[in-house]
Amino acid sequence: MGRLLLLSLPATGAVIYRCKHCDTHLAYDTDIIARTFRCKNGKAYLFNRIVNVNVGTKEEDRMMTTGLHTVCDIFCVACGAILGWKYLVAFDKSQRYKEGKFILDRSTALAAAPGDATADHHHHHHHAPVASSDDEDDHM
Ligand SMILES: [Zn+2]
Repeated sequence: MGRLLLLSLPATGAVIYRCKHCDTHLAYDTDIIARTFRCKNGKAYLFNRIVNVNVGTKEEDRMMTTGLHTVCDIFCVACGAILGWKYLVAFDKSQRYKEGKFILDRSTALAAAPGDATADHHHHHHHAPVASSDDEDDHM
């Protein structure tokens, strides 16, 4: 293995999600598309982009509550922990927006830390629910 090149997300004021196991930066909360997802451990978030992950090579078809999807597991580049999965293909047209996007398991993979001093900025404003609020995926 070569040297690991870990990206450090610059502080923007947004909350930065980190790997719960090794503190590696993964994503900003501003890149969350939806917080309504579920996986077998509980809550999961759909992210537009994340950093410092390896996408597994094994593609799997998984039946979820919103239909059949082809996904790949994703792993922390620093510690190898499984963090969630990437959607490669959504067979249902209405689910296509997930293709190329990432699910991170909120309970087992993510630790949140503010990017700077604006620590509690998202506790006070309640984000309006995303249009399709019953869009919950169940990880098999
Ligand atoms: Zn890690």
